[in-house]
Amino acid sequence: MHELGIVFNIIKEVDSIAEQNKVKEVKEVTLEIGEVSGVIPTYLTDCWKWACLHRSKLMKNCELKVIELKAKSFCEDCETAYDTVKHGRKCPNCGSAKTYLITGKETNIKDIKVVYEEEENVNEKSESKTDK
Ligand SMILES: [Zn+2]
Repeated sequence: MHELGIVFNIIKEVDSIAEQNKVKEVKEVTLEIGEVSGVIPTYLTDCWKWACLHRSKLMKNCELKVIELKAKSFCEDCETAYDTVKHGRKCPNCGSAKTYLITGKETNIKDIKVVYEEEENVNEKSESKTDK
């Protein structure tokens, strides 16, 4: 299963970041999943708990949050961006096929909430706010 492999990779990455930063426990991980990445968010959530419990040292009680990113394509001929899922490879503005995907394929770790060894309070490390 595709999603399980992705989950294992994320856990490996988060675990090693956490270890380097003397983190005691990882409380929550937020992922950005592109609309055309081929990853099904509910499958990720389904195997997350199991994988954390069995494959991780610092993420035993870690929650998973998923932010879905809309897929967008860009047309080279008329230089506009459009909704990939709705229109596919053909530009809806000029009919050109000279288009490419700008966003929609990503599986990014967006945000991690951790507890440090020294202090018990939860610290949040984040670049931008996209709370729902
Ligand atoms: Zn166009």
